[in-house]
Amino acid sequence: MKRYSAFAVAREAFRFHSGWERAWRSPEPKSEYDAIIVGAGGHGLATAYYLGKNHGIKNVAVIEKGWLGGGNTGRNTTIIRSNYLQDPSAAIYEKARSLYEDLSQDLNYNIMFSPRGVIMLAQTEHEIRGYQRTAHANALQGVATEFISPQRVKELCPIISLEGPRYPVLGGLWQPRGGTARHDAVAWGYARACSDMGMDIIQKCEVTGVMSENGKVSGVRTTKGEIKCSKLGMVVAGHSGVLAEMAGFRLPIESVPLQALVSEPIKPCMDVVVMANTVHGYMSQSDKGEMVIGGGTDAYNGYTQRGSFHHIEETVRALIETFPMISRLKMLRQWGGIVDVTGDRSPILSKTPLEGCFINCGWGTGGFKAIPGSGWGMAELMAKGHSPLTEDFGLNRFREGRFIDESVAAGVAH
Ligand SMILES: Cc1cc2nc3c(=O)[nH]c(=O)nc-3n(C[C@H](O)[C@H](O)[C@H](O)COP(=O)(O)OP(=O)(O)OC[C@H]3O[C@@H](n4cnc5c(N)ncnc54)[C@H](O)[C@@H]3O)c2cc1C
Repeated sequence: MKRYSAFAVAREAFRFHSGWERAWRSPEPKSEYDAIIVGAGGHGLATAYYLGKNHGIKNVAVIEKGWLGGGNTGRNTTIIRSNYLQDPSAAIYEKARSLYEDLSQDLNYNIMFSPRGVIMLAQTEHEIRGYQRTAHANALQGVATEFISPQRVKELCPIISLEGPRYPVLGGLWQPRGGTARHDAVAWGYARACSDMGMDIIQKCEVTGVMSENGKVSGVRTTKGEIKCSKLGMVVAGHSGVLAEMAGFRLPIESVPLQALVSEPIKPCMDVVVMANTVHGYMSQSDKGEMVIGGGTDAYNGYTQRGSFHHIEETVRALIETFPMISRLKMLRQWGGIVDVTGDRSPILSKTPLEGCFINCGWGTGGFKAIPGSGWGMAELMAKGHSPLTEDFGLNRFREGRFIDESVAAGVAH
């Protein structure tokens, strides 16, 4: 694969861009692979990438029922942060955030990582105590965050109103190296690098069954036929329960729609990400100028990847309290994704009752930020059978009551 560079862009400009190669191949599946990953979202592709890069396992297929990055990875609001309370969470999210810092160079693909800073507003006494506690925990974990005053919040984000009609801004948890990245580019960059290593990314191919022999995984049934493998990674977010059923086990997980919307593009007015969890909404400005807005999950389980009017009303009403200027904006489009939520709001990266079959799910409303760290840990788990990054996130924690309670950091926030 030819490398992308300023020189290559200049060269192609001179020959009317006729020399670019396809970013990844679209092969037909082989009859057998060493490892199969189901789901070509960010987590599945990152798992495949680190299997090849860190562990030399390159005879890998990533099987996707739709198009790569077309699930939650291409539908999220791209917030990246690692200011979680519990040690195992801070470890995996900070690993991911630090990998994001030079992921563009690593993948030779511009993922547009923008460490513009993330503020989580404290709008009640309870939130002040909670975020101060998180800032102390983060200091011990080596995650750079600080609790800042309302005046500092206003300096960082001048369009904010500190005197909301219901909840004033009382301070905020500030992570200066948090930010955003281009979500599609993360999927595309990993896909291109996987394809370059000789891996097969097979799109429009649905996994319809899991095959096993003597309690061990032996392959998958798909709409393009049976494919054998000795290791299987299921990385399908909102469809994890469906895949687990195919493999013969159940997950403590629910699938719920989560919605977002963007406004018409306007001139730059906000260069940080602000999350207002008490009123229930968050906002950042994309490079195109659109205000990217997200709210909470739907109140019911579902598999619809659609937006709904009551959500726009609820989310925009909440955000107008914090940013009165957005009341005059036109909203351009809205959409939904299906997120997979566990009881303790922490992910599952685990072996399963079926030998050779591994699962990565439960990232809920906040897994985009975790993609590189999750892929790194999941690849290590699949290659070696254990990983320091994933050991606390096993399925057995639900049986043993060892929950990693992140309901404050991840219950609403993304
Ligand atoms: C509106 C919204 C806003 C969000 N905002 C943020 C945010 O700001 N920050 C953040 O960190 N996170 C955010 N998230 C969460 C984040 O998007 C997800 O946690 C993350 O993208 C999950 O990635 P994934 O690779 O696990 O899943 P996905 O990207 O959903 O990929 C799973 C893939 O599996 C495929 N699949 C399913 N079943 C099968 C099958 N049987 N056979 C083959 N393929 C199959 C699907 O088609 C899909 O492409 C948001 C999510 C939504 C919906």
